[in-house]
Amino acid sequence: MKKEGLFEGALRQFNKAADLMKLDDGMREVLSTHKRELTIHFPVKMDDGSVKVFTGYRFQHNIARGPAKGGVRYHPNVNEDEIKTLSFLMTWKCAVAGIPYGGAKGGVKVDPAKLSEAELERLSRRYFSDISIIIGPEEDIPAPDVNTSGKIMSWFLDTYSMNVGHSTLGIVTGKPLELGGSLGRSEATGRGVSIVSNEASKYFLGSEIKGKTVAIQGFGNVGSYTALILAQEYGAKIVAISDITGGYYNPEGINAKEAFDYVTAHKSLEGFNAQKITNEELLELDVDVLIPAALERAITERNANNIKAKLIIEAANGPTSPEADAILRSKNIKVVPDILTNAGGVTVSYFEWVQGLYSYFWDLDDVRKALDRAMKNAFKDGVKIREEFNTDMRTALYIVAINKVATATKLRGIFP
Ligand code: GLU
Repeated sequence: MKKEGLFEGALRQFNKAADLMKLDDGMREVLSTHKRELTIHFPVKMDDGSVKVFTGYRFQHNIARGPAKGGVRYHPNVNEDEIKTLSFLMTWKCAVAGIPYGGAKGGVKVDPAKLSEAELERLSRRYFSDISIIIGPEEDIPAPDVNTSGKIMSWFLDTYSMNVGHSTLGIVTGKPLELGGSLGRSEATGRGVSIVSNEASKYFLGSEIKGKTVAIQGFGNVGSYTALILAQEYGAKIVAISDITGGYYNPEGINAKEAFDYVTAHKSLEGFNAQKITNEELLELDVDVLIPAALERAITERNANNIKAKLIIEAANGPTSPEADAILRSKNIKVVPDILTNAGGVTVSYFEWVQGLYSYFWDLDDVRKALDRAMKNAFKDGVKIREEFNTDMRTALYIVAINKVATATKLRGIFP
């Protein structure tokens, strides 16, 4: 039997929500179809004088509620199915967060660790130049994702600005502060994950996350800020963290600040002082809260039966397969889905975009307060529909999101 692709799985989830809310067939077809998809193959001059051809994508799923929005990732496993799925998730994420954007995603199939700084810059500029036929500050606004950063956003901004002949701050978000970035954008996804973790802990486990044991898979931008904020501001006990070098476990609690500083200094957790475990073992630890914060499909039918956490907070995009979701449900393990959990990043991207358009910049406290409000409201909306439809949080949040996009689509009507 052919293995189900990521998009097929996401569509199955979409249809589950669409069935429950009795979405009509026409709207179902409109909302499950991508607006626009671009695949590019582009040459890059390497430092040794050779030329290599790379493949990149930019997918726009839906623009009913506003410009398309979503990150760009660099990873050797980037493929069409992945980018297509992630752009689909962005539409629902932006709707859940209540920000006026549709969904997009981009990616380049490349291992950036194997490129020199100059090669990375040439690849980034060429990719951005090639996708510029479908992007723009009011059309589609890219941002960082896996293995992309503020530095790459600066090259993206400059490339676009050079091509159009004027500086265009609104073309990307996740920019460095000195180039029209927003205070609080770097920490935003992790802060959003922390806010949702605490709300979910109150709702599902009966009390705040303070003192609860937490394991976090992945220590990139999302995982590292989540660990730091959950430990320092919410008093959670982080017992395990991990990255590509493996898992690091301390039942007495890992010092999140030390781990954060360690990664800043050493670029990975290799050599960090804690008991060494594998990424697989981390996922199966007996903890209160498990936070997958790495890539898609960390939890599948292979390991779902071994998961012991009471609550899973999806900080990564798509970390749970639909089969695993069903197994977790049967074990009464609660899952708070990606489209809510990690929406803090794109929410502060929206704040950044607004600040850029007005050329008026907020202080950190304003950003944090607005993010806190947005995440708590989105959680509340999900809970309300979960109880009304007697369903799981993922389906409830899909219903919330589909409702918003379907309403916008109806109000606009079908052109012409
Ligand atoms: N890449 C992030 C995400 O998956 C942020 C996207 C954005 O800020 O546009 O949500």
